[in-house]
Amino acid sequence: MLDARTGLELLRGAPEDIALWYFETALTWGEVDRLSDAFAAGLASLGVVPGDRIAVQLQNMPQWLLALVGAWKAGAAVVPVNPMYTPRERAVLLDDSGARVLLVLEGLEDGAQVEHVITTSPLDYLDEVPRQLAGVERNTGELDLNALLARHDGQRPDAPAPAPADVALLTYTSGTTGPPKGAMNTHANVAFNAQTYRDWIGLTSDDIALAIAPLFHITGLVGHLAVGMLTPMPLVLAYRFDAAETLRLAERHGATFTIAAITAFIALLREEQGELPKLTKAYSGGAPIAPAVVEAFERRFGAYIHNIYGLTETTSPSHAVPFSRRAPVDPSTGALSVGVPVFDTVSRIVGEDGAELPVGEIGEIVTRGPQVVPGYWRLDGFDELATGDVGFMDADGWFYLVDRKKDQINAAGYKVWPREVEDVLYEHPDVVEVAVVGVPDEYRGETVKAFVSLASGSTVTPDELIEFARGRLAAFKRPRQVELVDELPKTATGKILRRALRP
Ligand code: AMP
Repeated sequence: MLDARTGLELLRGAPEDIALWYFETALTWGEVDRLSDAFAAGLASLGVVPGDRIAVQLQNMPQWLLALVGAWKAGAAVVPVNPMYTPRERAVLLDDSGARVLLVLEGLEDGAQVEHVITTSPLDYLDEVPRQLAGVERNTGELDLNALLARHDGQRPDAPAPAPADVALLTYTSGTTGPPKGAMNTHANVAFNAQTYRDWIGLTSDDIALAIAPLFHITGLVGHLAVGMLTPMPLVLAYRFDAAETLRLAERHGATFTIAAITAFIALLREEQGELPKLTKAYSGGAPIAPAVVEAFERRFGAYIHNIYGLTETTSPSHAVPFSRRAPVDPSTGALSVGVPVFDTVSRIVGEDGAELPVGEIGEIVTRGPQVVPGYWRLDGFDELATGDVGFMDADGWFYLVDRKKDQINAAGYKVWPREVEDVLYEHPDVVEVAVVGVPDEYRGETVKAFVSLASGSTVTPDELIEFARGRLAAFKRPRQVELVDELPKTATGKILRRALRP
């Protein structure tokens, strides 16, 4: 099965075949190859050498594919940054990764402390690419991507091809503990899981992918870009997820495959008009899915949503429902199985003492396999990943999630680390103590709630605290609810007991 060992070896498309659709414009694999050569040569001209890191902060747009392939051709690892991040959230990633270059959506560049900022517009590539390459320098005062590509068009990078053990992506996650850290997804990890997607789902070059998962997340990067390169199949990019527009795009281009968070499927269901006539391969990951949504989606659109499970540290899937099967439902909780371990992957349930638990018993899911990262950037490595997810395995080998050991909040697949939100609220002069937890939310599954105790005499309101967090935190991390309390629950040693506040 393993026929590519690095991200670059995934680039398989014939030059004249379509790599992606973006609004009305198509880009071919030949253009991806040429433009990524130019990007790699441009990076080298800025002094980028193999082993460097390049941060990319873009929506789902063609530049993502050029940047990814171009960075790999230059021997650099890509650090994806969520476009919703505030400059201070981005700074944490830029500092920790030591990224030398940031490729960023025009308008978001302010405050970026890196050697080189390259800006690009969502409108680029809406015209013919060769015309863009003629290179009209825009007066943004920054280095413009089109100008850089035009300057290096026709050049080929001279960096050696990456090795399987080299870092392809440095993806930041809160993991199970502590502040954001960079999971080192190697080229071998990425190549392996691109092949997992292709072979598990049975994707062929007759498929067309509706690329609506965000490309700054591991699932978008591997489940859209990497598998699109390998299969090869065209990607239909949706710049921003809009349900009505997504239905139009899917219908116009005949999309057959998609992977997304469950909220996207729910949003599609809420649209009264529109069909998904060709969609047969639908996968949902990143957050729990309710059987009722799967049933309603199949009734309306005729496609069964398969559950898929993994983490940033498993380079997207470690478990998935086989394409030919339907997930069993756990009779006691009503939860759908997240699937079985994918190829060459061994997953176990362990107790508090680390010992393996028998079938049916609840414990932490630990996973070992070719997609598991060797470790976090500048931190210790590991062979087996402790996921922080609590679940069990049934007698047939299906896995189920029931809880989390980690404090992470899962707001529709967007992960929030309570400490980050608490740290921001602690900056408010009237806040004495704060604890942040996830609370149920009808649409997002979970949302962020802060319990706050204030200095005596303070008249600060919950709304003012929510407002205070705005501008300091990405929208999905901002508390939607703030409850003022006299005191927070604590352990005997005085540590705030976040768990006691969880509903
Ligand atoms: P991330 O690192 O952002 O990919 O988040 C990984 C976490 O998302 C896992 O540890 C799970 O808690 C959660 N997750 C991923 N896939 C699923 C799924 N299919 N069902 C429920 N939770 C999931």
